Amino acid sequence: MRGERPPRFRCLFCDHCCYFDKEYEMPTVFPWEKRLLEELAERLGVSLEFKPLQIYMDDENNCVIALYRWIIKGYCPFYDRAEKRCKIHEDKPYACKMYPLLLEMPTGRLMLSGKCDWVANNKDVAEKLAKEAKLIPEVFPNEFEAAKNAFIEFSSIIDYVNRRRLRQTTNLRDCAQVMDIDEYIARYG
Ligand code: SF4
Ligand code: SF4
Repeated sequence: MRGERPPRFRCLFCDHCCYFDKEYEMPTVFPWEKRLLEELAERLGVSLEFKPLQIYMDDENNCVIALYRWIIKGYCPFYDRAEKRCKIHEDKPYACKMYPLLLEMPTGRLMLSGKCDWVANNKDVAEKLAKEAKLIPEVFPNEFEAAKNAFIEFSSIIDYVNRRRLRQTTNLRDCAQVMDIDEYIARYG
C-alpha cells in the first residue's frame, strides 16, 4: 500500500472489545464516566464494579480518585450479544469510544489494539500508522477525537494535581476521606 491513502476504519462487529479476561485490558474511566455508567446500569438492572486506579492525597490525608479501572469479567454487562451491539453506544466512556486506539497515560502515546478484528485484518495499515502517526486521524477520525478529548481531560487533571501539590498514593488505607477528583475540585477549588 506504499503511496496509497490507508482505508478508513470500519467496525466489523466481532465482540473482542466487549469481552475481557485480563485486568490490564479493562477500560479506565474518569469518575464522572463511572457515575454515568452506574446510572445507566441502575436503569438497565445490571451491576458494575470499579477499582480506584489513580489516587492522590493532600496534606490533610484526603484521598482523591482521578481514574478508575472498570472491572469487567467476561462480556460487558452493556453488550447485547444477540444484536452484537453496545446498549449504551451514545454514552459509552472514552476508552470504548476510542477503541481500537489505546491511549497511554500520561505520555499520550497512541497504540492499536491487536485484539480488534479490523486491526488484525489490516496489518499493513497498522504498520503504516506505526511509521506515520499523522495518518491516525484519517483512518480513525471518531476514535482519534475521543482519544484527544480523553487526553485533554487527563492533562487538566494532572495540571490541577501539580498545582495543588497532591501526591500520588496506591491505596486508600490511610485516607481521612475519599472523594472523586471533580468533587474535590468543587469543594476545595
Ligand atoms: S460499554 Fe459498550 S463498547 Fe464499552 S465494553 Fe461495554 S458493550 Fe463494549
Ligand atoms: S474489536 Fe474492533 S472490529 Fe471488533 S467490535 Fe470492537 S472495534 Fe469493532
